[in-house]
This record gives sequence, structure tokens and C-alpha cells, in this order.
Amino acid sequence: MLQLPLDFLEEMKMILGKDCDLYEQCMEKEAFRGIAVNRLKADKEQILSELPFVAEPVPFYEAGYYIPCDEKGVGNMPLHLGGAFYVQEPSAMSAVTLLDVQQGEKVLDLCAAPGGKSAQIASCLNGTGLIWSNEVVRNRAQILLSNFERMGIAKGVVSSCYPEVLCKRLEGYFDKVLVDAPCSGEGMFRKNPEAVKEWSREHVLSCAERQLSILRSAAGALKKGGVLVYSTCTFSYEENEGVIQKFLSENEDFEMCEIGEHFGRKTVLPCAVRITPIEGGEGHFAAKLRKKGESVSDAYSKPVKNDVPKALSEIFEQVPQGVYTTAGEKLYIMPENLPDIKGLGVIRAGVLAGEFKKNRFEPAHALFMSAKPEHIRRVLELDDKTVKEFLSGMEIESDGDNGYTAVTCHHIVIGFGKTSNGRLKNKYPKGLRILSAEK
Ligand code: SAM
Repeated sequence: MLQLPLDFLEEMKMILGKDCDLYEQCMEKEAFRGIAVNRLKADKEQILSELPFVAEPVPFYEAGYYIPCDEKGVGNMPLHLGGAFYVQEPSAMSAVTLLDVQQGEKVLDLCAAPGGKSAQIASCLNGTGLIWSNEVVRNRAQILLSNFERMGIAKGVVSSCYPEVLCKRLEGYFDKVLVDAPCSGEGMFRKNPEAVKEWSREHVLSCAERQLSILRSAAGALKKGGVLVYSTCTFSYEENEGVIQKFLSENEDFEMCEIGEHFGRKTVLPCAVRITPIEGGEGHFAAKLRKKGESVSDAYSKPVKNDVPKALSEIFEQVPQGVYTTAGEKLYIMPENLPDIKGLGVIRAGVLAGEFKKNRFEPAHALFMSAKPEHIRRVLELDDKTVKEFLSGMEIESDGDNGYTAVTCHHIVIGFGKTSNGRLKNKYPKGLRILSAEK
């Protein structure tokens, strides 16, 4: 049985009152698990109809679902590998709901790895606007990038930059900013019992200092009239209400937004919600603030017209939109109207489309992952058995025309290959291949 620190339970009694006993009873049960469906890949209904398990809606996000606690191998399901959904703890989905992302907006996710909330934001933007995802820890930023590619996010930037540097340079640029801050992880105790051992009052207080400092930086990147959501996966008063109260006391240009959401439990702040296992999630806190003033809408800028390499027209019925840019041998499709990104630790802007090699163009995995099957000329739909062979790197039969071919399973693009005389040469990246194909 999970042994919770006594100091922590004292704190929980202050926060939950008589519900603390209920919280302790919940902690003896299994942790909640969830998925968030990715609209960039297909319609929500289509994805739901393909799921091999029962998915019940969560109250925290309109495209979020509980999945059975004992469901095995979810990470290796073709739908997951193809980015049709992201495995996400249900209460963690609440922060993006509060952010209320609208199509066409520019959104900053300042502490973004591994990328669950960025994936949600990109799904809400549905291929419009911009999601800029930053992660200060470099190797975590690489994980963020691989999740960006898996989820097929094209209108996005991945960077690894200090929040103070990034937000100063991009002052007033974003309509919405999410600060999903590093925290003491009290809401992770059931999922990760190691977090219980690392817990201490000192750690809670040092997290609170770091959170306030990140929030101070974030404030600068938001435009007037813009919305900032602050979230953590911890319950502590100091790391949550305390941080918000201190931030508001030193930033008169910010105000609380009444949230009026019908989930979680009320806090002493009308702009914030707390979710505990009693309310159906492992643990989250989210607060919504607004930068005072009128938002100035961006001047309309026309989509940039640029030359699409012939090689891409041969692959696509409808070529991906964006700014086609080469860097050395590599071709990128970048989002339109990006600010100057130099010196901001950008590791990807848009999509890596491929590489020019001598006289030919070799497309990249990310190019196919960010495309819908209906826009691609050659598509090979695989059944559940053959897809395992493809995902393990094997060559497979393909009766289509010769040329680069998207590979789909359950009508979701999971990769590509090159068809040549009835065979598909496998281009699934070596680093992503699953170990063996079951016969
Ligand atoms: N939003 C992510 C998601 O949904 O997948 C989870 C983010 S996690 C709670 C907090 C992140 O903040 C971690 O990836 C951590 O590396 C990063 N971080 C740590 N120290 C930081 C700092 N001083 N400034 C900004 N981010 C920091």
C-alpha cells in the first residue's frame, strides 16, 4: 500500500477538509488512464470507431477519454504510432480546455515536453495558427520533437530556450500562453510511487519559487487581451494559489478570468480549479488569467506563394501549404509569417519534408505523418497483421503504382515506403521500429 508522507497528508487536510478521507480511500485504487484524440489525423468519430477498447468521455476535455486500467500495449498500437491519439492522464487535459484555443491563434506552450498539452493545442488549432512548444531541457525537447512528428503537427515550432530569453524576444507575440510548470508532482503519486520518496516541504517551496519566476517570464510573451493558463500536477497551496496570488500582486496588468467550468473542485480563487482522484483524475491545478487591454489583431498577410518542388507534386494530389525553405540539402515546409527565430534554440520550424540527394528527392517520415491520406496519390492500407511487419521494418507486398506510397492502418497514416514492381521498400525510421512481427 502507498505510504503517503504525514506532512503531505496534513497539507491535504487543509486543502480538502473532510474529503481528505475520501482522497486516501481513492489512493488505494488503480490510477486513471486516458487518451486525447488528435483531430489533425482524422475526425474524432472516425478514430473512436477504430479503437480496440472501450473509451468513456472524461469531463475535462471534449476530445478526452478514459481507457481501461488494464489495457496492455497501447503504446504499440498502430493508431497510437500513427498519432491518432496521445496517452494522457485525464485531469492533465483540463488546462488546454481552460486555454480555450480558437482556430488561427498563436499559442505558446512554454514548458512543453513530452508534449501532451501541445498535441491537444495543435488538435484544437486543427492546422491553423501556430503552436510554439518550448522545452528548456534539451534531451526532453528531442522527445517533444518526435511527438510533434508522430502527431503530424505542421504549423508549429519546437525550441529549447530559457523562458526569459524566449519571452523577451517574442514580447507580445502570442494570443494564448500555457505555463504547465515543473512541480513537486503530488498528483503523480499513484502513477509514479518514486515521486512519493522525492516529496518534501523544502522541495514544494523551491518549486514555488521556480514557478513564479517562469510565470514572470511568460507574462511578457502574451499580447494585451491575451489569456494565460498556469497549471501543475500538484495539489500544494504554495505551488498553486500562492504562486498566482504573488504573480497578480506584482502584475497589475493581469486579472483573473472566471472559469465557470463544470469539472474539478472550486479553489479560493474564482479563476482556478483543482482536480483530485475524487473528481476523476490523478491530480491537476489550473488557473486562467487575462492580460488587460484590447488585443490588436495582426495585419492580414497573404499566404506566401512559393515554388513547390516537382518531387512533391508527384507524391501529393494536394501539396502541403507553407513556406518551402531549403537549408543545405534539406527541405522544410515552414509555417507562414514566423517571427525571426535566430538565437531562440529552435530545433524545428514546420515540417522536415525531405532531402535532395544527387538527382533525386528522398521524402521524410514527418512529411507523410503530417498529411491526410486523401491528399496523397498512392496509399497502401494495411491490416492488423501486415502492419506489424511494416512497423518492424520488413518489406511487404504492394499492388499499387510505383513510387512513394503512404502506409495507412485504420485509415491513419503511420509511415511510408516506396513501391516498386509489387513490393514496398520500407521507409519506417529505424529508431521507431518495433522489435519483431508476430506471425
Ligand atoms: N506540458 C507537458 C506535457 O503536457 O507533456 C509537461 C510539462 S512538465 C509538467 C514541466 C516541464 O518543465 C518539464 O519538461 C521540465 O523539463 C520543464 N522545466 C524544468 N525546469 C524548467 C524551468 N526552469 N523553466 C522552464 N521549464 C522547465
